[in-house]
Amino acid sequence: MDILDNVNLLINYALNYLDLDKDDIIYAYNFIIHKIGISGEYKYRKVHVKQNDLYKIIFTFKQFLNNGTSDDTINEILSFLTPKPSQIINKYHSFNNKEDAFNYFYNLQINNNYIKKEEIAKNIIIKDKKSKYKIIVTINLSKPEKDNKEIAKLINNNQDIIYPKCALCIENVNNFKNKKLDLRIIPLKLNKQDWFLQFSPYSYFYQHCIVIKNNHEPMAVCLDNIKALFDFASQYKFLFIGSNADKPIVGGSILNHEHFQGGNMIMPLMNAKTKREVLINNFNNVKTYLMDWPCTTFKFVSKNKKDIINAIDNFLNYYKSYNNKEINIDCNYSTATIIARYFNDKYEGYFILRNAKTNNEYPNGLFHVRDNLQFIKKEGIGLIEAMGLFILPPRLKRQLKDVDYLLKNYAKKDEIYAKLPYLSEFLPMVNAINNKEVKSINDYLIKACIEILFDIDIFKFANNKDKTIDEFLSLYNKKEG
Ligand SMILES: [Zn+2]
Repeated sequence: MDILDNVNLLINYALNYLDLDKDDIIYAYNFIIHKIGISGEYKYRKVHVKQNDLYKIIFTFKQFLNNGTSDDTINEILSFLTPKPSQIINKYHSFNNKEDAFNYFYNLQINNNYIKKEEIAKNIIIKDKKSKYKIIVTINLSKPEKDNKEIAKLINNNQDIIYPKCALCIENVNNFKNKKLDLRIIPLKLNKQDWFLQFSPYSYFYQHCIVIKNNHEPMAVCLDNIKALFDFASQYKFLFIGSNADKPIVGGSILNHEHFQGGNMIMPLMNAKTKREVLINNFNNVKTYLMDWPCTTFKFVSKNKKDIINAIDNFLNYYKSYNNKEINIDCNYSTATIIARYFNDKYEGYFILRNAKTNNEYPNGLFHVRDNLQFIKKEGIGLIEAMGLFILPPRLKRQLKDVDYLLKNYAKKDEIYAKLPYLSEFLPMVNAINNKEVKSINDYLIKACIEILFDIDIFKFANNKDKTIDEFLSLYNKKEG
């Protein structure tokens, strides 16, 4: 394709999918030719263009530019063609309902290639059809793998002199250093404080968004943020919203800036059955259930927003003061993963008990992924995974192909191990398949991820888990009553 034809195609694309105004055609054309280093007359021609044509347009520019900075150049052009934040915010507020506004904003971030839909479509998704938990395992090909120790280091770093202070700060919009030219945000008011909404470029699930506090403050699981969660749930009734725990090992990868994650998806935990209703004193308008879930989770349900917030906050404070030496619960390390949503005309809060303690025997965490499963996942188990949607690192795509090759050529195993020594880490998987404990690599992944959920359970050291949970609850009810 002639490069000028491609420029014309892009301008047509921007008119159709990025709200480019006809009066801005020459303005846009001159920017594009400057960036790709061409010159010449241009006459706009209307051509038919589909949303998917974006990848063809990008590919043609890449071939033409044929240099190491072509990604950056294309990013600059697409960002230039994206409406300014103020224009997007105005349009967002012009919709009659939040759902239409949210869909508009989501589609715009796909259209300007901030959310890389084509790459996300290549992610591998494995569904659990056998166990009652119905978890989902994904191998996300665009997400970098992080180390818990690196995450812990980040919290203590004095980042005052760095601009923007972190990858979540509002100052990232149109920031060249962090390559966030195409990022756009929508301001929010939650619990009378300033927050903003943006999308995750990795999109772990449909309409995966991030809700971030304007102030660069560390994560804190506390009353103020429980209020903010339910405020969001009341404004965005079609989404769930959750907060990671505020400590390394059991939390997300960014702990130095308060933020939530949400999206338009029913998570496996939300489909799980309840085991039984439990009494939580003093909150008659709130029902509380113990979930049938590998890591101990309570579900709070109420029509009343204030009551559910107070019930969860009360329970959080109790859990944060609960010690039980026999089963290794040290309250100094206790925290929670909390998720809120509005469902069937009621508020729901999911409270997952977490603990970040380490000791000599468990240097990576007592309630963390066991050592012999870390070849699958070594990062902290955050809220998305605690709810049963696993995001496994991209390296696994290549590694699992090697495992498959090893299994199919097991007679030559010594030769293969010599060539690919890292495969020895995958021995638990190889043995389980060879011993017919599981049928396939996928079955092993599902089984391993369910085991990981049992690993993070804070009651896992109890001989009789049900009895210990009963005692834990009756102590709470005694204190409350
Ligand atoms: Zn920040």
